[in-house]
Amino acid sequence: MIKVFAQLVKFSGLCEEECISCGGPIYSKDQGYFCNACLESLKPYHPLEYRRLEYVSSYRVFGRYEGVLKSLILSAKFGANVSLAHHIGKVISPYLWEYIEIINPDLITCPAVNIRRYWSRGFNHAEEMLKGANVPFVKVFKRIGFGGPFAGLSKEERLKAVESHKLREEVIDLLEDKKVLIFDDVLTTGATITRLAELVLYVGASEVYAFFVAQAL
Ligand SMILES: [Zn+2]
Repeated sequence: MIKVFAQLVKFSGLCEEECISCGGPIYSKDQGYFCNACLESLKPYHPLEYRRLEYVSSYRVFGRYEGVLKSLILSAKFGANVSLAHHIGKVISPYLWEYIEIINPDLITCPAVNIRRYWSRGFNHAEEMLKGANVPFVKVFKRIGFGGPFAGLSKEERLKAVESHKLREEVIDLLEDKKVLIFDDVLTTGATITRLAELVLYVGASEVYAFFVAQAL
């Protein structure tokens, strides 16, 4: 009877004790449904060829947007899992810091999430990743109008989504002559980072660099 109840609880989604990536056992709820083996399997990946991103002087990528890393990012983002976002930050921290020491930026920031989304999720996953990596950041951007996920949008809708990124008025003076590093979770088409870079350069930033947790191929 107890076994049947346990099965019911499990299937109802109230309790999860298997890794959603490999099915292995989970020992701490903080791991957010990923087992130790999967969490430890995260390794940096250096693309052989970096493509040019408009307005971006140079950038770095931690890994490929696939497998465990992809599941982790999706869970942190859409599963509203703050501790997973912190974990991702901790894993990428040495690589992010290595890059920070090379480019020596005056200011580090990340994209904002739509206010509606922020309230429903309760946090900005990119900010939480930076906190997990122990990287101080300044909120430079805000998001107007667009709240939905990017995937599955038409070209026009994507364009609108990209244009929803704006600068916060109170930081405009702060950006003059500054070398800015923008941190984001996934590099896909590059449309978002190009928009963000254009915005800060427009108000006088001297250079823009970028760091991505993962690159979609
Ligand atoms: Zn696993």
